[in-house]
Amino acid sequence: MDCIFCMIAEGKIPSTKVYEDETILAFRDINPQTPVHVLVIPKEHIASVDEITEENSDVVKHIFEAIPKIAAAEGLSNGYRVISNVGEDGAQSVKHMHFHILGGVKLSERMN
Ligand code: AMP
Ligand code: ZN
Repeated sequence: MDCIFCMIAEGKIPSTKVYEDETILAFRDINPQTPVHVLVIPKEHIASVDEITEENSDVVKHIFEAIPKIAAAEGLSNGYRVISNVGEDGAQSVKHMHFHILGGVKLSERMN
């Protein structure tokens, strides 16, 4: 499949990994928007949050259990933001579900 994050998960494209286990991977965003900008993905291809179902949601639970550990390891003790862009109006550019962890700076209250 022609999916850049599947290729990263398979090790076919290099990434700066910060966490990995059997089902998920976290790596640094290539174009960081904040001092800490990590992407967390399922290794399985799920296109977006809009594709979460009862059948595939275990990995989402797992991602959200990992996020606090990744944030702590990144030193984000004063807080951070978790974002997942969905589809055209959500400005999703990579069609493999990912959760942005943004931190290391006081973020704007604006969401758009
Ligand atoms: P989104 O716009 O929510 O789909 O986010 C996609 C993110 O993936 C952007 O922040 C990109 O900078 C990031 N990105 C794209 N290609 C790579 C890559 N090869 N390695 C790391 N991050 C990437
Ligand atoms: Zn994929």
